[in-house]
Amino acid sequence: MRSGQLCIICGSHAGTTEHIVPQALWKRFGLDPNSADLARYRTELCEAHQRATSTLHSRRNLLQLVDTGEPVTRKSLTDLADWAVWVTLLLGLCTGICALPVDESRDLLLRRFSGRTAGGLPAGIRVYAARIDAYVSGTDFVSRQIAIEKGDHVVLDHSNVPSGFTVRSGPVTATEAIGLGTFALLVVPRTYDSGPRHKERLDGVAASVGLDLIHPLPQPIPTLVPKKIDMRAVSGIFVPPGWGDDASLLPIAIQSLMHARASD
Ligand SMILES: [Zn+2]
Repeated sequence: MRSGQLCIICGSHAGTTEHIVPQALWKRFGLDPNSADLARYRTELCEAHQRATSTLHSRRNLLQLVDTGEPVTRKSLTDLADWAVWVTLLLGLCTGICALPVDESRDLLLRRFSGRTAGGLPAGIRVYAARIDAYVSGTDFVSRQIAIEKGDHVVLDHSNVPSGFTVRSGPVTATEAIGLGTFALLVVPRTYDSGPRHKERLDGVAASVGLDLIHPLPQPIPTLVPKKIDMRAVSGIFVPPGWGDDASLLPIAIQSLMHARASD
């Protein structure tokens, strides 16, 4: 055990350096999992949490899916969405760039990996995916502002209704995006409602950068035909209040506030 390293989930002394993205997967892409470039994908975990999180990566079909893009089935997409949520939460905690506040991310991970819940994903979360034919860059997209529940950008009134927002400096993100192997994945925590068909409009915006919803998984399941994907568009399509182009997915009270400020 190395001294001074604490488990990022529970804060007890860490026993192991965990590879958040499985070493087997990096190796298949010809990458050295211990290289400095991939340091952000390693983190310290205590032995109990190392054991608990390693079960995430032990699903053989999941590695095959990310590696080859096949098979696209209800089971494989369900596993992929589950993996994407927990891996991006771990990545967010270890890089400090999280869609959710650090305490909230840690609490979700503690509940998931300390056996305090039966499993399953946090309520209201949406996961989008695309199979990648080729990575491209410089595509045009319109970023959409969203208000993340439990995020630290939204100000609530006395009855817990969104009434305003704060604009923070530093790295900001409303979502977690990851490009891995044959997949682009985007995790969007539960958002405050913006009016009629809010969720359908979220899905439509995700589709504008090539993404299909995989959690909650629709019926029939998406075919995920391989596409040209711009990861900058995937990671920038949803942004916190005050940072983006289009405000129509924000709660009405926040939209009104923006209009009022703009006309001052
Ligand atoms: Zn721990």
